[in-house]
Amino acid sequence: MLHAEGPMLTVDVGERSADTVDIDSVLERTIGGRATATALAHDRIPFDADPFGPENRAYLSTGPMQMSRTSFTGRMNMTGLSPLTDGLVSTNAGGYLSRNFAGAGLSVLELAGESDELLAIHVTDGPDGPEVEFEEVPELEGAETSRVSAYMESHHDLGPENCITIGPAGENLVRFASVMTFDSRAFGRGGIGAVLGSKNVKCVTFEGDSTPDIEIPDPPAMDVHREAATSDDLMRRQGTTGNTEFINDNFSIPTRYFDDYEFESIESIGGNAVEEKKYKKGACSQCAYACKLPTRDEERGVETEGPEFETVYSFGTCQGVGDIVDVMISNELCDELGMDTISAGVTVAAYLKSEDAFGDAELAHETLEKIAHREGIGDLLAEGTARAHEELGVDNYTVKGMEFAAHDGRTLHGQGLSYAVANRGADHMYGGMLGLEYSGEVDPEGTLGKAETLVGLENHNVVRDSAVICAFGGDYMTDERLEQLLGVDYERLQSLGAETIERERHFNNKRGKGVDDDDLPYEIPDLAEAVQEYYEARGWNEDGTVPDAAIDSVAPVAADD
Ligand code: SF4
Repeated sequence: MLHAEGPMLTVDVGERSADTVDIDSVLERTIGGRATATALAHDRIPFDADPFGPENRAYLSTGPMQMSRTSFTGRMNMTGLSPLTDGLVSTNAGGYLSRNFAGAGLSVLELAGESDELLAIHVTDGPDGPEVEFEEVPELEGAETSRVSAYMESHHDLGPENCITIGPAGENLVRFASVMTFDSRAFGRGGIGAVLGSKNVKCVTFEGDSTPDIEIPDPPAMDVHREAATSDDLMRRQGTTGNTEFINDNFSIPTRYFDDYEFESIESIGGNAVEEKKYKKGACSQCAYACKLPTRDEERGVETEGPEFETVYSFGTCQGVGDIVDVMISNELCDELGMDTISAGVTVAAYLKSEDAFGDAELAHETLEKIAHREGIGDLLAEGTARAHEELGVDNYTVKGMEFAAHDGRTLHGQGLSYAVANRGADHMYGGMLGLEYSGEVDPEGTLGKAETLVGLENHNVVRDSAVICAFGGDYMTDERLEQLLGVDYERLQSLGAETIERERHFNNKRGKGVDDDDLPYEIPDLAEAVQEYYEARGWNEDGTVPDAAIDSVAPVAADD
């Protein structure tokens, strides 16, 4: 089976020490990316760890495809114990980091411990493997992400494509803080930025010329690339916003903090509105599909990348804001302050509801600054919707503490089931019944009989996130091509996905999570029964736990175990 190559570099930021650890046997079983990092996290983070404690570990991991010249491969994975959901989460981001990371000669970076001083960590390839330098950066305290990049450029001649960075939100332990790369690409969901903040790590840079010896099968690699380059998909012009009006027409876009399902001003913030503001093409490393959205509005002096569809929802429809430039400003603030746009947007929407202030974009922008700096009401909102909702006097629209993505589970019931059972909480990239339900291939009505399909999709997505392949390449990276690229049959890939999901579940079980957490804040038909169907399809217990015997340890033990 094709897999990432290279050792894990484990860095204790408190001790300021670094070791390389041979993880070949883990990589051989797990491909790379999410599956590798989940196996390491499961075995090396104590089950009772505090997400903000030195015992939590953050993983940045690559897959085998990242040195290829194939479209949809310019992505990286991050995994850790989430301060938002209190369980394991993985999140991935595009950009241009992956080649610099692999060039530094490692497959996984593990960050452990806690530093007294704010640090930048520099990873380069040395003659005997990756090398590390620690730099104290007190002058970057409170810096926005682009200022960190500018510092790295002027002091180290490195670009934003060499860096992962947190903003003030991460430093201030905002529970949905992101890790940014290339200034505008976010490891968004689950608050891994706050995990780096708790370790006092402001930035990590990667540089080197090491090239892992990985042969990517061609065909199909270049077929995928050629098809990506010649595709006439709307998404190549409008990115993820291309389907905004369609989703609105299907009553699937939560509006005014879930009071409604459709937004009357959708055309002013949808795909055409975004395309009008787009001023050039944008891409990730090697990707000819180039779906990114560099946008600007000269009149109001805003330049950003995006908003993507989920941000159009969280800062547009969910807040009752119908001006695309207002949404662009929110998007840029989140990137600079280092916050997940979905969780930040929904949490601000909850606040606007409590203030009876839907549509007040200026208040939304001010509130984002307050959250990132934990000032005034921002200190409460920095805890996320689940922890803030009672004080705000609004309903708690989260699952396992994670704010909902769009694609409303009240309309798409299979997607609702997916949100309910996902180890990551209410995120659309975990299972994703939405595509089948929008297309009508699966009737959106009802939950029963959908569990087997959901299990297959979740398992597939683990493989995608482990390879690490962009979700938008799904039509090109077919199951058959995945088999060819990874050199293993699809059935084995499905079981690899299942093993990873079991490790996530088992870790979360050990933190007390089970059937009571697999629920929704609203009613959909037969949810409890469908959840049991899902457990049965996975071979889990009725209380939502994975039997201990189903889990085998694959990772090397941590030095302090
Ligand atoms: S499809 Fe878009 S997000 Fe995905 S790798 Fe290509 S440019 Fe990046």
